[in-house]
Amino acid sequence: MRILVSGGAGFVPSHLCDLLLGRGHEVVAIDNFVTGHRRNLTTLQEHPGFSFVEADVSREVPVSGRFDRIFHMASPASPIDYVELPFETLYAGSDGTRLLLERARADGARFLLASTSEVYGDPAVHPQVEGYWGNVNPIGVRSVYDEAKRYAEALTMAFARYHQVQVRIVRIFNTYGPRMRPNDGRVMPAFCSQALRGEPLTVFGDGQQTRSFCFVSDLVEGISRLMESDLATPCNVGNPHEMTMLQLAEYINRFTNNAAGIVYRPLPKDDPTRRRPDISLAKAHLGWEPQVEFEDGVARTVAYFRTL
Ligand code: UDP
Repeated sequence: MRILVSGGAGFVPSHLCDLLLGRGHEVVAIDNFVTGHRRNLTTLQEHPGFSFVEADVSREVPVSGRFDRIFHMASPASPIDYVELPFETLYAGSDGTRLLLERARADGARFLLASTSEVYGDPAVHPQVEGYWGNVNPIGVRSVYDEAKRYAEALTMAFARYHQVQVRIVRIFNTYGPRMRPNDGRVMPAFCSQALRGEPLTVFGDGQQTRSFCFVSDLVEGISRLMESDLATPCNVGNPHEMTMLQLAEYINRFTNNAAGIVYRPLPKDDPTRRRPDISLAKAHLGWEPQVEFEDGVARTVAYFRTL
């Protein structure tokens, strides 16, 4: 198949490109490098089936020829990124989604939206099931991301209902692995980089808030299965292995033999208190569940940060 991946120089999408190329598809990646990085394209560009276009998909999709599949993965995705890039984040979710859905309609392509566990906001239902409508502050600092993705889901469903475009929506939970930017502000790169520098790890708040971390190879396998499934409603993909941020910090310090300990910093506004995916739907419809153990995933991630 001929496949378009927006945000292809980003962390998750670059791994998705690897997987798709490995399965014999032709892949065209688009990125404007607002948060993506050229070094994520290094191995991809050695592949004859890969090509890259530098563009902002919220403005234009300057690629000719028909696509069979379109993955809309482009968006700033870490809290400090989308607070610094509010308009880029809103437009990637709104105009970017619209342009790529219009392209999918014109090409007769199947479209997959990379949505997020952030559509659940600070969830009152735990673990989060797809049927939960969420608890989002519509004007808070995170709203540029959360509401852009919620709008993107609504637009995607409208194209499915009114224009018969084949759509898939993946709600991605916290993911980690090689190719994360060390300074993207997310907890895993922050803790790994701090530990490797021998600095104390910055735990926000009291560290009792929870997240559930999925290794990136598991995530992209789930995303590709969803695209090829017949599931036309949103599907959580993530790892239910839940822990507090304090537990995570202690684990990373032990793993890296970092004796510098922990320092506490203020909790960012609207920081969700807990998050864990219910993945029953993915298990039943995609035959998917995470394979990579946390210990193994951390070892591979720390090894990557050592190379930078
Ligand atoms: N966090 C932390 N220290 C850091 C960065 C983040 O304790 O240096 C916390 C953050 O407050 C949140 C969790 O780790 O509760 C996950 O944050 P991240 O930015 O990775 O992603 P989120 O799940 O909030 O989108």
